[in-house]
Amino acid sequence: MAKLPISASELVKGFGPTKQYSPQEGFYGRSEPDKLVKTHCCFCGMQCGIQLKVKENKVVGFEPWMEFPFNEGRLCPKGVQRYLQNNHPDRILNPIQRVEGEGFEPVDWETAMSKTVSEIKRIQNQYGNDAFAMLSGVSLTNEKSYMVGKFARVALKTANLDYNGRLCMVSAGAGNKKAFGLDRTSNNWEDLAHAEVILIAGTNVSETFPTLTHYIWQARDNGAKLIVVDPRVTPIARTADLHLAVRPGTDSALFGAMLQQLVENDWLDHEFIENHTSGFQDAIDAVKDYSLEWAEEVTGIKADLIKQAAQLWGKAKTSFLMHARGIEHHSKGVDNVVSCINLVLATGRIGKPYCGYGTITGQGNGQGGREHGHKCDQLPGNRDITNPEHRKYISTVWGIEEKELPGKGLTAYEIIEAIHRGEIKGLISLCFNPLVSLPNNNFVREALEKL
Ligand code: SF4
Repeated sequence: MAKLPISASELVKGFGPTKQYSPQEGFYGRSEPDKLVKTHCCFCGMQCGIQLKVKENKVVGFEPWMEFPFNEGRLCPKGVQRYLQNNHPDRILNPIQRVEGEGFEPVDWETAMSKTVSEIKRIQNQYGNDAFAMLSGVSLTNEKSYMVGKFARVALKTANLDYNGRLCMVSAGAGNKKAFGLDRTSNNWEDLAHAEVILIAGTNVSETFPTLTHYIWQARDNGAKLIVVDPRVTPIARTADLHLAVRPGTDSALFGAMLQQLVENDWLDHEFIENHTSGFQDAIDAVKDYSLEWAEEVTGIKADLIKQAAQLWGKAKTSFLMHARGIEHHSKGVDNVVSCINLVLATGRIGKPYCGYGTITGQGNGQGGREHGHKCDQLPGNRDITNPEHRKYISTVWGIEEKELPGKGLTAYEIIEAIHRGEIKGLISLCFNPLVSLPNNNFVREALEKL
């Protein structure tokens, strides 16, 4: 595979004159708009409200949207640049095709589309439908996510479709399903602002979800104590009452030891446990040997700090626990999530004012993406691709026979492994950046070069 030695802007320049914008027009946002369009910042799961200035059907600037309940007009440094995305001169608007040894050249849409179709047909005729795969991403809207799932299963007829949430929110979703039977968040952010204790694990919230930090500061102003679990001294960790610098990969040991402390000191909500949980004794049995000393040795956190964390959490009347990729991006991500949820359930701090739990979604449409069917084991509406009833229903909606609907396919990384083994020969990758997002870059690069 030829390497691409030039930047996107150089690439575009090579295609002919790039439009030059005067300071009064274009994406600099200084011209008067025809209208303001209320929408969301598309960059992260906070989905802050924003009003885009639109002129002649182009985004030329933005105004804060003060009435939007979550961010009340506030935007982070990423959000204030969101309007530049649509008309940026570096944006590639037409198909480009690789010329062996020379980088890329532009091609017209018809050529690009017919080549794509003929290559898909060639590969599938020779190697079978599953030899063509699709990777997708959660910067897509609900509608596009739905279309990707339908396209892969009905048009490509391939089982091998997965998405980039596989690396993060899939663990959170699976942990939530295990604990609550439902993959949904439980609270609005308002509860966070009034919680007595906040525990955040594996999230550099100040830099990655800056507008959410506002709610943590509100809680701090109201006297909340903050516990941060993170191997790194992130900006939010610097402000914490307790920073638990956990050794990477040992999160469950920490949460298990905290649960053991809750049990030992009877900082439990027995009524809640009795009425709203099952298998609580199993959870207690699982952590009975998780002494503070053992946890110190495993996690690298001083026993006294773990005890203080359990005490703060255990004695609080209200609390809020949040986590993100730091505990989810692991081979044991689901266990980490469930061990966090156990702390919430043991103290009965969910489903009450100012008490709750939430996973912080990374990409703009992490939740919508996985509900609309571009996950290898899921059909639209959170339906299970192995469930005969669900399969039948979706087949009817799509106007196909149930037996034509492919089954569960490979997960994102398994797709890369199958490409490396030569079993998958072609790939459409949409809003997924495998070389950046997947582990073991050299292996991924080798695989992609085989396509
Ligand atoms: S916090 Fe997220 S959604 Fe809000 S402005 Fe920043 S990037 Fe956009």
